[in-house]
Amino acid sequence: MESHQRRLTKIVCTLGPSCSSKEQMLELAQKGMNVARINVSHGSREDHVRTLAAITELNVKHGFCIASLIDTRGAEIRTGDVQDPLEVTKGEEVLFAPTTLKNLPTDRQIIYVGYDGFSSDVRETNQILIDNGEMSFDIVRIEENGSVVGQALQDGSIGSRRHINLPGADIDLPSITDKDWDDIAFAAENDVDFVALSFIRNASEVEEVRALLNKKKSSMQIITKVETQKAVKNLSEIIEASDGVMVARGDLGAEVPYEHLPVIQDDIVYRCRDAGKPVIVATHMLESMTEHPIPTRAEVTDVAHAATEYTDATMLSGETASGKHPPVALGAMDKILRATETHLSKFPADQNIAIQGDGDARAQSAVSLAKSSNAAAIVVITNSGQTARRVSKFRPAVPIISLTNSHGVQRKIQLLYGVYPLCIEFSQEEETVVRGFEAAIKSGLLNSGDQVVVISDIQTQNKPVTSIQMRTVQ
Ligand code: PGA
Ligand code: MN
Repeated sequence: MESHQRRLTKIVCTLGPSCSSKEQMLELAQKGMNVARINVSHGSREDHVRTLAAITELNVKHGFCIASLIDTRGAEIRTGDVQDPLEVTKGEEVLFAPTTLKNLPTDRQIIYVGYDGFSSDVRETNQILIDNGEMSFDIVRIEENGSVVGQALQDGSIGSRRHINLPGADIDLPSITDKDWDDIAFAAENDVDFVALSFIRNASEVEEVRALLNKKKSSMQIITKVETQKAVKNLSEIIEASDGVMVARGDLGAEVPYEHLPVIQDDIVYRCRDAGKPVIVATHMLESMTEHPIPTRAEVTDVAHAATEYTDATMLSGETASGKHPPVALGAMDKILRATETHLSKFPADQNIAIQGDGDARAQSAVSLAKSSNAAAIVVITNSGQTARRVSKFRPAVPIISLTNSHGVQRKIQLLYGVYPLCIEFSQEEETVVRGFEAAIKSGLLNSGDQVVVISDIQTQNKPVTSIQMRTVQ
C-alpha cells in the first residue's frame, strides 16, 4: 500500500527542552513540522525570544514556512511548592488550603493551592482532580476558614505545582490573567502568528483579546482552546469570535467525564469545519512516544481518527517538547496521517458542509471541478488568505497551492488543511499565475504538464471578478 505524496493534515509541534537547539528544530522542520508551539507556562521570556528567532531563521535562511503559536497559561490552579512529594494513600483524608491560610490543624497532610477562592469554587463540583485525573479526591467537607477536606480515591504522590481541575466549576478567577495579557502583548509585538487562549469560557473573553490586538494593529490570529465545560456549552459563539479552535483534550478530559470526549471532539471539529475555521486536535495523541520509539496501536488509531474527520491539524505536546524521541514521534504522526489520507482520497469528503455566500459557492465549485477533472492541485491566488481558507473548507483531496504576496499571510494559512502556501510578488493577473506556476515547480509542488484548477480574482473594467480556470502548467 502506497501513501500519497503530500500530507494534507497539518502538524503542530510543541517546542521545549527536547528540541530547543537550532539543529533539533531544523530536523523537525525537515520532518514536516508546520506550526511551532511555544507554551509560555514553561520557560523564561529570554527562552521564548530565542525560540522565535530560531523559527524565523528556519523560514528566512532555510526556506521553510513555519508558523509560530504562543500558548498562554490561562487561569489554571496549581498546588503549592513542597520539599518532598506528598505520599497519599487511598481513603486518606487530606486538607486543601489556600497558601494564605494560617494556623491549620496538624492532624492531616496539607495540599496548598494558589488562591483564596478555592473553597467557593469547590462548591460547584464534586471532585478535585490532580494532574488531569491521575489522582482524584471526593469532597468530604468545606470548612468555614476556606479549607477543604478531600478523601483520596487512589494511592498517589503529589509533587510541587501540580495542575488541579475542578470539573464543571466556574473558577472565580478571570480567564485571562495579568501574566496572559503580558504574554499576549509580547506575542503581538513579536509578530507571532497565533495566540492560543487557555481556559476560555465565553466569546466575550475572546473579544477582549481581539480588542487588544486591534488596538495594537496586530494581525495575530486567536486560537481558542476548548477545555472547560463552559466553553463546550458556549461553543457556537466561541467559534464565531475566534480565528480557530483547539480541542484541548488534556484539560477537557478532566473537566468532562472522559467517555464524552470523543463525541465532543467530533462535534467541535465538525462545527469548526462548517464555519470554515481551522481546528487543532491536541494532547496525548502519541503520548507513549514521550518514552518509547513506537506508538501504541490505540494512539495510531486516534491520530487516524482525527484525519478521518478532516481536522485541519493534529498536535504533539510532550512528545516533542520534553520527550525522548521528538523527530521519531513527528515521523510517526506524519506516516499515520499520510496512510489515512491515501485511504480517504478514494472517497468523496463529506459534502454536507455549509455553503455560506458566494465566496464559499465558488470555492466549492473549484474543489468539485478539481475532482471531476482529475486535477493535480488547486492553485489559489489570495491576498488576505480568505480564498485559501474557503477552498480548504471543502477539503479537496489534492494540495491547495496558495500564492500570496505576504509572508505573514503565508504563515497563517499554513495551519489550514491541504494548503501549501507560497509567497510571490503580485502583478497583473496572468503574470501572477505564471509566476505562481514557476514558484510551485521550483518548490517541487507542481510539474510542467500538470493539470490544475486556478481560482483567482481578475480585474474587469470596473471591478474584480472571480475566475475559475482549468490550466495546464507550462
Ligand atoms: P495544555 O493545553 O497543554 O496547555 O494543558 C492543552 C490541553 O489541555 O489539552
Ligand atoms: Mn490545557
